[in-house]
Amino acid sequence: MKVYKFGGASIKDAASVKNIATVLKTVGYKNILMVVSAMGKTTNTLERLVQMYFSKQDIDASIAQIAQDHLQITTTLFLSTHSIFEEIDVFFSDIKIFFQRNKSPSYDFVYDQIVSFGELISTKIISEYLRLIGIENEWLDVRDYIKTDVNYRQANVDWQETAKRIGILKKDAFYVTQGFIGSDFNGFTTTLGREGSDYTAAIFAWCLDGESQTIWKDVPGVLNADPRYFSETKLLQQLSYEEAIELAYYGASVIHPKTLQPLQDKSIPLYVRSFLNLKQPGTSVKKGPMLLPMLPCYILKKNQVLLSFSSKDFAFIAEHNISEIFKIFAEFAIKVNLMQSSAISFSVCIEDTFKHLEHFLEKWQNQYRMRISRGVSLYTLRHYDAESMTKISSNKNILLRQLTTDTAQWVVEE
Ligand code: ADP
Ligand code: ASP
Ligand code: MG
Repeated sequence: MKVYKFGGASIKDAASVKNIATVLKTVGYKNILMVVSAMGKTTNTLERLVQMYFSKQDIDASIAQIAQDHLQITTTLFLSTHSIFEEIDVFFSDIKIFFQRNKSPSYDFVYDQIVSFGELISTKIISEYLRLIGIENEWLDVRDYIKTDVNYRQANVDWQETAKRIGILKKDAFYVTQGFIGSDFNGFTTTLGREGSDYTAAIFAWCLDGESQTIWKDVPGVLNADPRYFSETKLLQQLSYEEAIELAYYGASVIHPKTLQPLQDKSIPLYVRSFLNLKQPGTSVKKGPMLLPMLPCYILKKNQVLLSFSSKDFAFIAEHNISEIFKIFAEFAIKVNLMQSSAISFSVCIEDTFKHLEHFLEKWQNQYRMRISRGVSLYTLRHYDAESMTKISSNKNILLRQLTTDTAQWVVEE
């Protein structure tokens, strides 16, 4: 069986939904499990809805707007008598009922119960549309298959239970299911972390002993830089799992970092292909050379914070200080993307996805002198040469730099 993944960009409007059908007709949909994300930027909109709920703002108009956005797409795809309209109505009344009845003060719990509707709704629409045009498929509620712990917003997969459940799926079907979401053992919805649908596809590929996984993107494949920020990007034809893991880890957002490990474990090839140009071969990630062609790869991570700790009395910053600091980073789910230490200071470039930084800082202000630069960028250059080094580092206000044999990094104020 093969696993396909279509992300938000591939289903952002009615024309994109039709394009998915064209892709499937061209490349085939026999023995396929297709994982789909929420439409366009729906996840961001649902995130804002949860924020509004917790800040006690009126949410009815926002719910109506999200429903309207989905209806606009559905009205283009279906006749008004189609049952999809009722199905979508049910989802939106479930959202309202959840908010009315909710007693949980946990932000992360409520987030998962609500944000997951994006994928439930998008997959219903695509599944019904494919059926309408003669592409038979079976819609699966992924929460019956991917079981996780209760670490809401960053849930960890229970691989044994998940493999058992996925193992019962037929191998000769065409399934449509949701990315990004799962459920805990009480049946509550969980999510696997933003952009997690690539990872969902890899979970299925691993559990099904899949032949391959293909992620369909709005770019020709993995490029040597993000075309949104760099010009003259070039296509990478082939990557080893290790190189792909490195690129994803440093922030090449075309592949979610957790995706590669399950695939590497069973040597399942990953293809990254354009849903806009089916003639292009894209990129393959598999066993083999590190990088083909060998090129410098540029990665930019925005919205970082550079934190420098130094001791107030010029004492050394030693192992116990650093381990204490890291323990609290882990507790607050603050991601450290780079670190550097000297005798009396310690610097980290971090990402505060869950907005816990202020609490974190409160903990340390009596103990350390701290310098904080917010809104900085982290540039990473893999396989650098003199020319690429100059290209990245010239004319920039560099706050910190770090060099290893194959990777150069700069924290930059922009
Ligand atoms: P999805 O629709 O699956 O969610 P994403 O938007 O998450 O797709 O990923 C595709 C985007 O990733 C591209 O539009 C591109 O801007 C960005 N990107 C970042 N780094 C790279 C890279 N190295 N190669 C190709 N695309 C990249
Ligand atoms: N819809 C989710 C998100 O936007 C998951 C994904 O797109 O992969 O984060
Ligand atoms: Mg995405």
